[in-house]
Amino acid sequence: MAIERTLSIIKPDAVAKNVIGQIYSRFEGAGLKVVASRMAHLSRAEAEGFYAVHKARPFFKDLVEFMISGPVMIQALEGENAIAVNRELMGATNPKEAAAGTIRADFAESIDANAVHGSDAPETAAVEIAYFFPASQVFSR
Ligand code: UDP
Repeated sequence: MAIERTLSIIKPDAVAKNVIGQIYSRFEGAGLKVVASRMAHLSRAEAEGFYAVHKARPFFKDLVEFMISGPVMIQALEGENAIAVNRELMGATNPKEAAAGTIRADFAESIDANAVHGSDAPETAAVEIAYFFPASQVFSR
């Protein structure tokens, strides 16, 4: 199995619910290490750039509004199969379809306000980590 890195964002809804620690516990419980971390209130330009791949989608404008509605917690996670492990912890995009015990089933309200982001492939993970963290701020351990 490969050691991977993935980019995770705890979205404004989950930060507002005060469950950052509970979500970090799930990362650690699944063997993922936090190798970079910072809180930020994204600008519109930062959110639009991050979600540029979704620019043509009907939900793009609302997604950007939501992502800039409050602070987010951004982290890079490292571990064996980190991308898939994190996606498993997150659950389905729509919390109503998310498996019991996943972050979205437990903490998310709707498909728009769905608590967490996680990279979906090694290529996007590398781009997304570099979008928020210079290499000097990622600490392999
Ligand atoms: N999203 C939305 N409405 C939709 C589909 C997606 O608001 O109908 C938002 C949601 O916040 C989701 C994000 O757009 O997390 C990115 O969508 P994607 O399909 O990449 O889902 P994810 O990878 O986050 O599960």
